[in-house]
Amino acid sequence: MARGTFGQGMNLFDSVEELKGVGPKTAEVLKKYGIRTVRDYFYNLPRDYENYEAPVSISEIRPGKVVVRGRIDKITTRRARRRNLSVTEGIISDKTGSIKVIWFNQSYRVRQFSPEKEYYFTGSYELKNGRYSLMSPSAALASDIDTSSGLNPIYVAHGSLKSHDFQRLIGLSRDQFNTIPDFLPSVQSGTRKKALFYAHFPDSLESAKRARDYLAYEELFELILAARLNRQENEKLQAEPVPFQLEKVKEFLGKLPFELTGAQKKAAWEIFQDMEKEVPMNRLLQGDVGSGKTMVAALAAMMAAINGKQVALLAPTAILALQHYEKLRKVLEPFRITVTLLTGATKDKKNIKENTKNGKINFVIGTHALLTDDTEFSRLGLVIIDEQHRFGVEQRQKLVLKSPDGLAPHLLAMTATPIPRSLQLTVFGDLDVSVLNELPKGRKPIKTEILREIDIKARLYPKLLETIQNKSQVYWVCKAIDDDPRGETVSVKKRAERLKTLFPKFRIEFLHGRMKPVEKDEIMERFSEGKIDILVSTTVIEVGVDVPNASVMIIENAESYGLAQIHQLRGRVGRGSAASFCYLLTSGDLKPSRRLMELEKSSDGFYLAEVDLKMRGPGEIYGALQHGALDLRIASLADTRLIARAQKDVLEFLKNPKNMLKYKELMQGITKYQQITTLN
Ligand code: ADP
Ligand code: MG
Repeated sequence: MARGTFGQGMNLFDSVEELKGVGPKTAEVLKKYGIRTVRDYFYNLPRDYENYEAPVSISEIRPGKVVVRGRIDKITTRRARRRNLSVTEGIISDKTGSIKVIWFNQSYRVRQFSPEKEYYFTGSYELKNGRYSLMSPSAALASDIDTSSGLNPIYVAHGSLKSHDFQRLIGLSRDQFNTIPDFLPSVQSGTRKKALFYAHFPDSLESAKRARDYLAYEELFELILAARLNRQENEKLQAEPVPFQLEKVKEFLGKLPFELTGAQKKAAWEIFQDMEKEVPMNRLLQGDVGSGKTMVAALAAMMAAINGKQVALLAPTAILALQHYEKLRKVLEPFRITVTLLTGATKDKKNIKENTKNGKINFVIGTHALLTDDTEFSRLGLVIIDEQHRFGVEQRQKLVLKSPDGLAPHLLAMTATPIPRSLQLTVFGDLDVSVLNELPKGRKPIKTEILREIDIKARLYPKLLETIQNKSQVYWVCKAIDDDPRGETVSVKKRAERLKTLFPKFRIEFLHGRMKPVEKDEIMERFSEGKIDILVSTTVIEVGVDVPNASVMIIENAESYGLAQIHQLRGRVGRGSAASFCYLLTSGDLKPSRRLMELEKSSDGFYLAEVDLKMRGPGEIYGALQHGALDLRIASLADTRLIARAQKDVLEFLKNPKNMLKYKELMQGITKYQQITTLN
């Protein structure tokens, strides 16, 4: 499109080069950072706003976030003793005084400033090496700043383009915002263009906030719509129905040494109903650690297998796969269901794969080894994924694609990480959910206590002695496998050594993710047979491992984990008849954080997940969830009110099929979200 006509026939999907001031060179840099179209460009929002209206005089400066206006000189840069770190220092002065400024790894600052010009510096004034300094401030040429509104948007620098370049560039397109078309039907016409405009050119903090609220709503709308559309797609797929057989269920339950909890029965029932349908089940079974998900999975597997379908269970670690295998084999073999384990360490892989392909094996339990192309099934009807958030979309898809042509398997995903309701409505909106919100009878609460490292000797050692004398066992979780040169964490190896020296009579072993699978399995097996007293380990024991005789869990550097993760680790104990304890060790002698104190108070995984979401964001809950795809530009997944509104509006939107044709830009944009949210 010719530049001149841009204003009339606005096309957001034109190349950024169509914009004023963006030449081929700038476009190149922008494209490198994912800003390809006019739309990308307008949605490249400021990360913050600085208030330049009233910079503080240096003589009046106080610790904390500050804006000062002044000149800078004596600027030098040097390598710090620690490699990979450069320190740039200078002196900022105004009429009233001068202060020291420090930047780390920003050596370009040496060349940035002219000594005769004035700049605004925004940063934190704080104590560093015994002296107050302005730490890593942003800097903007005073003559560049339009102080009429007092607010200055700050953009993330991309390569050679710094914040002020973005500011200048977007300023050149100021008039073009007026032509931005509407995007969503659920808001007043013109809302979008106003929001984008005020996000870039706010006239007050209030207007910036209002603009960003709308843009957050837009983002949530897209996410929720994507999930709902995935659900509709799934409903178009075909699966083979698995007819329900009541007698077999009765027989199965009659053989168990315990009665299912009400929640387990309900979940199993929901699954049976799903599997009877001709559309594939797409169900998430969520239950706190120890709530008994495996038995529910066993029932589903049994039903599929006795109906002639093959079943695959994908577990994130070899240890877990082995435990599932042992438990499930015991309950399924009486039904003449052939259960096999397939992990990296399995010896007769070839044989197993052949019998999976020809259908002799009914149920394969394994790790990533299941995903290789040469693992084929003759009639895969049910896929069970344990700890589903540990796997990416592509991995899950690989397994699903192993079903017979034209058919999709039923899918049961399990997770012990409770999913806050807000995430359930958004990211997981395409799933049906069963919840095990009830623990099996007789479980004793786990007493949790925060201890400082210096209390280990006085508080923890006596506890270890007592526990082991009572023939119970201990987990000790460390952050790192190897020694940390800075000495901030105690490694698995060092901790095991220290304990061995202190308690020569105890049987102490260590376990970590870099050991060979066979070694890991061997140690885990000995631990579960009671042949190891203290198992020092990294978080590889986090998921699923079940040793009822273990009653003490110690977590070092507890402050470095998410609440959900600690809660999972803690769930490794409290599975037997003994009273159980969890000790959270914090390094240094700082006051324990509020987050950790929540763990002392609560054993409710759902509650803790909500707290975690509010305090640390969704990334902590879904650690690796699809490569940071949840990095929403602006919306917060903890904003339940906005989510509820977007949810309502999406359902309204979907009621009218014509909307999908009419709102083309919206439909075009959500494919990226569909990638994140899809399970099938
Ligand atoms: P998770 O939900 O964490 O995967 P598991 O399935 O490993 O929990 O179950 C934890 C333990 O509880 C296992 O030893 C299992 O055999 C046992 N269990 C499961 N259901 C019940 C029940 N209804 N009553 C008593 N024990 C149960
Ligand atoms: Mg489990």
